[in-house]
Amino acid sequence: MTRNHDRSAALFEEAKQVIPGGVNSPVRAFKSVDRTPVYIERGNGSRVYDVDGNEYIDYVCSWGPLILGHAHPAVVDAIREVTVKGTSFGAPTELETEMARLVTERMPSVEVVRMVNSGTEATMSALRLARAFTKRNKILKFEGCYHGHSDSLLIKAGSGVATLGLPDSPGVPENTGQHTLTVPYNDLDSARVAFQKFGHDIAAVIVEPVAGNMGVVPPAAEFLSGLRRLTDHYGSLLIFDEVMTGFRVDYHSAQGLYDIQPDLTTMGKVIGGGLPVGAYGGRRDIMEWVAPSGPVYQAGTLSGNPLAMAAGLATLNQMDRSAYELLEERASRLEHGLRKNAQEVGIPHHINRVGSMVCLFFTAEEVTSYEQAKQTDKRCFASYFRHMLDQGISLPPSPFEGMFISTAHSEEDIDRTLEANRYAMEQL
Ligand code: PMP
Repeated sequence: MTRNHDRSAALFEEAKQVIPGGVNSPVRAFKSVDRTPVYIERGNGSRVYDVDGNEYIDYVCSWGPLILGHAHPAVVDAIREVTVKGTSFGAPTELETEMARLVTERMPSVEVVRMVNSGTEATMSALRLARAFTKRNKILKFEGCYHGHSDSLLIKAGSGVATLGLPDSPGVPENTGQHTLTVPYNDLDSARVAFQKFGHDIAAVIVEPVAGNMGVVPPAAEFLSGLRRLTDHYGSLLIFDEVMTGFRVDYHSAQGLYDIQPDLTTMGKVIGGGLPVGAYGGRRDIMEWVAPSGPVYQAGTLSGNPLAMAAGLATLNQMDRSAYELLEERASRLEHGLRKNAQEVGIPHHINRVGSMVCLFFTAEEVTSYEQAKQTDKRCFASYFRHMLDQGISLPPSPFEGMFISTAHSEEDIDRTLEANRYAMEQL
């Protein structure tokens, strides 16, 4: 059933001459699944089409932003409308305030928000702010959480760092790394020990409230509320990295779903509707430390640019509560179907899901931490991935990433995916 990928293969060879590893973000190279990357020509709804004319049901969805699927008419129209008026001014526009209003209305803890251009920028800036505000240096993060590729955060990171099995990246100065403490995800006791030892020098705890970069790992009961209590006790800030979960797992994001108020929140992906975007926001008294109202410098030539604001607003305006119900229905159908198939075929599996983030791990054990995610069968995943791709299902090419469902995924799409999944599992 192997499809023709000749043109993709030729384009990849050409790209490798002029782009490091042929790609502009590592996991796109399909290295860990031992395939040539598929070059996409266009997308529409739940589907993408490659340069060799193959069609796929897409569960990458640009790694999360496309919660409405590809080329949603409302998003495309909004971008088109602003584009003809000019793409960037380096001066304020009304759209930026509209976006900030919408974010502050939906994110319970966010009073003030600053737009940037990527999730990496958002987390990097939030850390600088937390360090300035608390006058402390250290941060605490969790193993397998990925918060972008700024120096302080590239320690024991998930996502592509985990996929490629890279140790902490060369190029990060030792004395920068020294300020980053890491403990296992969902392990409140270890966090407590770190605080007992270093608590009065910890500026912030940064956490993915649902981990999505070691596969999908939900927070254990009391984990997030425990972090809230710990940070309060030691005068550290709690930063929720909602770059992935923001406006995806719930109308009010993960902080609404679990009813926890972080001090700062980082965002990206969905709020840009598929255009480059990031944001950080939170308590007014902290955010007022950011320039020009305060001394912490952070800026951006293209920050809050009209295209990204228009695409993000158009996306969020479609995401009313019924849209989240629809996502829940589709994702739950997928989850149950995957479990049933795995049980019937007799494949060791563990499925984690929070809303429209779904992850199938090849293991008989529960997965609640990065250590456990690392124990899952990666060769089995790679083979599974290839069988799915050959049947026209595009999955994230790594066992350390979840599937993203969009409102464009129909019941028929899910059912076709489950048929392909059944066949793929039978081949393992
Ligand atoms: N934080 C989280 C939780 C993420 O999932 C990501 C990207 N997957 C980032 C930060 C970094 O965002 P970006 O790739 O836009 O820099």
